[in-house]
Amino acid sequence: MHFSLTSEDLAFRDGLRAWLAEHWREDWAKMRRRFPSQDEMFAFLRVWQRQLFDAGYVGLSWPRAYGGQGATIMQQAIFYEEIARARAPELPNVIGLDMAGPALISHGTPAQKDKHLQRILSGEHIFCQGFSEPNAGSDVAALQTRAVRGDGGFVVSGQKVWTTYAQYAEWCILLVRTDPAAPKHKGLTFVLVDMRAPGVTVRPIRQISGEPEFNEMFFDGVRVPDENVVGRVNGGWEVAITTLMFERGPRTISRQLHLRHAIDAALELAKHTPRGGASASADPVMRQRLAQLYIDTEALRVSNLRALTRMLRGEPPGAEGSAAKLFWSEAVQRVLELMLELQGPYAVLTQGSERAVEDGYWQQRFLRSRGDTIAAGTSEINRNILAERVLGLPKD
Ligand SMILES: Cc1cc2nc3c(=O)[nH]c(=O)nc-3n(C[C@H](O)[C@H](O)[C@H](O)COP(=O)(O)OP(=O)(O)OC[C@H]3O[C@@H](n4cnc5c(N)ncnc54)[C@H](O)[C@@H]3O)c2cc1C
Repeated sequence: MHFSLTSEDLAFRDGLRAWLAEHWREDWAKMRRRFPSQDEMFAFLRVWQRQLFDAGYVGLSWPRAYGGQGATIMQQAIFYEEIARARAPELPNVIGLDMAGPALISHGTPAQKDKHLQRILSGEHIFCQGFSEPNAGSDVAALQTRAVRGDGGFVVSGQKVWTTYAQYAEWCILLVRTDPAAPKHKGLTFVLVDMRAPGVTVRPIRQISGEPEFNEMFFDGVRVPDENVVGRVNGGWEVAITTLMFERGPRTISRQLHLRHAIDAALELAKHTPRGGASASADPVMRQRLAQLYIDTEALRVSNLRALTRMLRGEPPGAEGSAAKLFWSEAVQRVLELMLELQGPYAVLTQGSERAVEDGYWQQRFLRSRGDTIAAGTSEINRNILAERVLGLPKD
């Protein structure tokens, strides 16, 4: 593992820092709350992605032939780190960049690549991920959405759920069952669905945080032409695995920085919160907890660097991805719980009192963080992976 950057990486980082200094001056975490609606926030993020694309910062590690920059994985990781450092927003087309794009690069036809790759980068084709169903989440291969042969393609019927930002997506990567007689992993096909096709209905679901980030999706006789099948018919599981491997790619490197920002805020709040005639930061138990959170973040940083080293060597992602996801999502919840504990009884106030801290910002983050231990593999599933692959325990 090398901790120092090459001169090219340093030059890239400095160029990006200068660009960000000129184009971004806010704290996104706070700014995002000022949008009157999520729709307006998403529209803003599309423009942000376009700006970064025009400046050559989107698809850094994608091949040039597909509109990328042919840069190193290290530079891609630097990009995510600098965005977090500048407290700028991430790119909104997460599914396009981290899942649909890599799946198309590995398994797509030339026509599919031509149609989508460049537009994924510019943000013209926002993608959503239609994998989970009401009865298929952790065990996604149990899905039941059916696709039957029709005129020049397939006709899709069924329901998906928890589909993040489906209401803004132009396209969906959809996993459907094409052979119900085959073993569950063998009868699946990976297709691209035009979200404006007749028969597609999207219904937003309001989360505990109040935001309708994810949705239910209904497919009622939706026509999917053959040209939208990615990989082999009934070979969808292989394609899905490619997307899930990329789900925990270089973007995760920035997570420990977001966590650090929250810990810094907790430290500040502890210093200014009265407790027992002094400040909460003088309380030995509180000091212990803050120090432990700081140690957790450092452990996460080093673990992320180990995962990055594997990627740089061209090795497949190891169990570090599961360890980092598990550790990060639970650490985020611990720090946000601490923020609320520090506020004591005032934690129930989000507005209307001078004791309400930052207009309920931490309360909102606390509620949103409940989903972090569920999305992209629950804590239990990640513990199973670690038990089996790292500790060599018997299979679940
Ligand atoms: C914020 C958020 C965004 C999401 N976005 C998307 C999206 O864009 N697209 C998409 O397709 N999905 C999305 N999901 C869905 C997500 O992938 C699923 O919620 C997740 O895989 C868990 O599936 P489930 O909700 O069906 O729970 P289940 O799989 O039914 O699990 C229920 C409980 O049982 C436990 N459990 C299940 N199996 C085991 C086992 N073998 N051993 C031990 N415990 C087990 C789980 O850990 C959990 O506690 C999102 C979820 C969230 C929270």
